[in-house]
Amino acid sequence: MTTLAAITLLAALVSGASAMPTAAPLPPTPDRPVTPVILDPGHGGDDLGAIVKGAQEKDIALTVALKLRDRIKTAMPVRLTRDSDVYVTLDDRMVNSVDWNGAVFVSIHLNQVRNKKLAGATVYSYGPEKRRFKRRKPRHPKVPPMPAPPSVDARESDFLASSMVKALRGDGFRAEHAKSDYYVLKNPAQPSVLVEIGYLSNPAEAARLADPAYQDKLVSTLASAIETFASERTARAETMAAAPAPAAPRL
Ligand SMILES: [Zn+2]
Repeated sequence: MTTLAAITLLAALVSGASAMPTAAPLPPTPDRPVTPVILDPGHGGDDLGAIVKGAQEKDIALTVALKLRDRIKTAMPVRLTRDSDVYVTLDDRMVNSVDWNGAVFVSIHLNQVRNKKLAGATVYSYGPEKRRFKRRKPRHPKVPPMPAPPSVDARESDFLASSMVKALRGDGFRAEHAKSDYYVLKNPAQPSVLVEIGYLSNPAEAARLADPAYQDKLVSTLASAIETFASERTARAETMAAAPAPAAPRL
């Protein structure tokens, strides 16, 4: 299903004949309830992600994503691309998120670089990348090429990323907004961001990231930013769905 799904997705995008939403989630129906928030804990299973002194990116990303889900689900429905230690391919994550009709897609990762002093969260949205340091080689297997996301979603992704950075800084976290062409940021159906919640390569930050109290504080800030964005976006989609079709232009 994986490759076929990706090919189908790409074919639909290229042909422009897709019924997929490009500007907002589809109106909910009984068999297609709206799923405002999709959380995507990176890696899983045999794909460990970053590992520093026994601390594994896949584990901390999952723990934080589960905490985020528990915090957000009291306000709105949430789905996870994985909720246990299993490997899910990048294109399955993408295809599922399109199928689930999300209002927002948030991928959770942890950073690892050679410079042990770098610290803080980085929130990525789609765009040309400016790298100040060498990135370790991605461990993901090769994925099919994906076109850039629709510009309306890219704008919303920028808005969400900067809102998250503002919220994090407001709560005392170090955070920056950056651009990248990561696969999940090319989500064709919903705004998407990738949050590197901190650097495992920084020993002090690695200890914080493994601390449940620090995770809770981080989750609280991220949840507020996501909830605000998702509820506003869902409200905008409902307004658009309820609005009469624009009148034909007079000749
Ligand atoms: Zn990662």
